[in-house]
Amino acid sequence: MIRDLSLAQDNSAPAVAGASTGAGNMVTVEGAEALWKQVAMARRRGHRIAFVPTMGALHEGHLSLLRRARQLADWVVVSIFVNPTQFAADEDLDAYPRDHRRDAELLAAQGCDLLFLPAVDTIYPPGHSTFVDVEGPSRGFEGAQRPGHFRGVATVVTQLFHMVQPDVAVFGQKDAQQLAVVRQLVRDLHLPVEIVGAPIVREADGLAMSSRNVYLDPAQRQAATVLSRALRRLEAHLAAPGDEARQATAIEAFIARLIAAEPLARLDYVAVVDARTFEPLSQAEGEVVIALAVRFGPTRLLDNLHLTLQ
Ligand code: AMP
Repeated sequence: MIRDLSLAQDNSAPAVAGASTGAGNMVTVEGAEALWKQVAMARRRGHRIAFVPTMGALHEGHLSLLRRARQLADWVVVSIFVNPTQFAADEDLDAYPRDHRRDAELLAAQGCDLLFLPAVDTIYPPGHSTFVDVEGPSRGFEGAQRPGHFRGVATVVTQLFHMVQPDVAVFGQKDAQQLAVVRQLVRDLHLPVEIVGAPIVREADGLAMSSRNVYLDPAQRQAATVLSRALRRLEAHLAAPGDEARQATAIEAFIARLIAAEPLARLDYVAVVDARTFEPLSQAEGEVVIALAVRFGPTRLLDNLHLTLQ
């Protein structure tokens, strides 16, 4: 990967009002105009732009997306925006962990070129009234559990894509339904951006990394490994030949039994779905996701297994 040193030098003394440099050569912008100027400058220099949208409270999962983005392009933009429209009224918008200073240091150290840190008013100025509703993959599971959630996600992703104008954007397979919704959005609106899915990054004991893991108390944190344990056992079970094990009802029962054995866990749903449409399947065949949502007290954790089965 060749880094553009001339841009890096420019970045050390930002030529754009509203832009500032932190550690390394990363530029941080908050306003839309400052962002557009940086993007235009990168385009003039012929850079290929990769984009990683996040809500901050960064962990290794987010940083793995940034590293993937670095392999795919020579100029990488990361956004941190806790998007209010994807939270329902009774959800954790105010409590959602925020630590912009630490996040910026992590991003700069990993070679992020531009950090976009918009205020709510920048994305949703007073009077904002355009929303994007993706049907199909938004309908079930997280969409059913969290009404309005994917409308908020699709709206902010559409806006961010228009502002950042990336050639490629990287999303985590951790949020498999969100990935399906974003792919559908890009197809339907003919957005000129390639969507790349990146594998789930886990803690040493298997728990999928999530900014919300900090909500777990020590007992819940320990119990939360049941999600990845259950999915690992399922994967081994499915490797054995035989059609019966691949029936959705058998898979769902297999997972439900393992989750029920953990007293602190309450299963929200387990489902076998088509990876692209998120439509439920009766048999695990082709590219499938086995999606899992489990509650520990008030905290909901997601995990999934992405498989291609012949
Ligand atoms: P969030 O900040 O939770 O909105 O997530 C931003 C991006 O990071 C999304 O594309 C997520 O799917 C991705 N992500 C979150 N956790 C992980 C993880 N453990 N492994 C890989 N990607 C992740």
